[in-house]
Amino acid sequence: MNFVTPGNDEAAILYRGAYEDTYVIKDESCFKCGIACHKNIYDRPEGETAEGRRAKKGNFRAKFDYEPLALLSSNIGIYDHEQSLDIVELADRLCYDAISLGVTLGYAMEWNERHPDKQILGGLRFGEFEKAMALIRETAAGNCPQLGQGSMRLAMEMGDLSFAMQGKGLEYPAYLPDTNPGYPWALGGGHMTMRTFLLLILDGQKTDIDYWEKAVLNGIYYTRDDLIGTCKFAGVPDGNVVDSMNDMYGLSLTAEDMNTAIRRSYLRGRLLEKKVGYTNEEYDVPGRVYERTNENIKMPSFITREFMDELKVRVEKGWDELTEKEGISLPA
Ligand code: SF4
Repeated sequence: MNFVTPGNDEAAILYRGAYEDTYVIKDESCFKCGIACHKNIYDRPEGETAEGRRAKKGNFRAKFDYEPLALLSSNIGIYDHEQSLDIVELADRLCYDAISLGVTLGYAMEWNERHPDKQILGGLRFGEFEKAMALIRETAAGNCPQLGQGSMRLAMEMGDLSFAMQGKGLEYPAYLPDTNPGYPWALGGGHMTMRTFLLLILDGQKTDIDYWEKAVLNGIYYTRDDLIGTCKFAGVPDGNVVDSMNDMYGLSLTAEDMNTAIRRSYLRGRLLEKKVGYTNEEYDVPGRVYERTNENIKMPSFITREFMDELKVRVEKGWDELTEKEGISLPA
């Protein structure tokens, strides 16, 4: 809860298979996409035994994606089908960003656990579904600015940022900072604009600083899809992107041209961050990562304060040099 993995199988109740007896799940997609990553969930009509596309559907209940489900259910102590459907759907209908909402609720719940004498948001605790629903409604109505300000400002108000799961004011997606020293350099969403969030698992559990310096400096190329407007989930190879751009627009673009455009966009974005006032201290992971209290993480524990300080020096130096080499600056 609040990014502390409990190390048990309680969340198995939230796996797809656990819903299918009671609900019909349809894989839905954006226009022409064969991946169909959205899971729309419907009540199961009486007597309907088919699954997926073949099943008749009852009332629409909610649209599940990874983050809305993870951050608005298990992350805040909710392990119940009906409650998970209701809270995800309520957040959608009220136009919340599910990541920001779930992370901010998680912070408030942990704060209340830690500070029984200084409760906030009506003493909201992990698993308190009805209270969370009421707060979500009140916040949407403009009556609860304490929750509405998001995790960073709430944590600053309370005087403890160490367990606020955010970077530079933007809440983390549902990937642990304990495994991702690249989070601070994401320009936008931590899992969408810096491709370091699964490397520890996918790339051989490497923990040396040379590896992570390169990983962060190369992680920015993940923003290619943001620049051209394709979905990252498809993992389109660079060659296909270049060929498509050339075919569609009559260009003679090379992969290097494309990477240069991505790099220059990132470097400008980074300068913009500095210009609008992000401080050196904000390029960091939450203090709790350094306390290494999350014993249920089975990945190597390697993010120390010294490691991050050294990584920051190297990464910032790398980008300073590139910025100068490419002659990039922002208007005063
Ligand atoms: S994979 Fe991307 S394009 Fe396809 S349905 Fe999901 S979000 Fe839409």
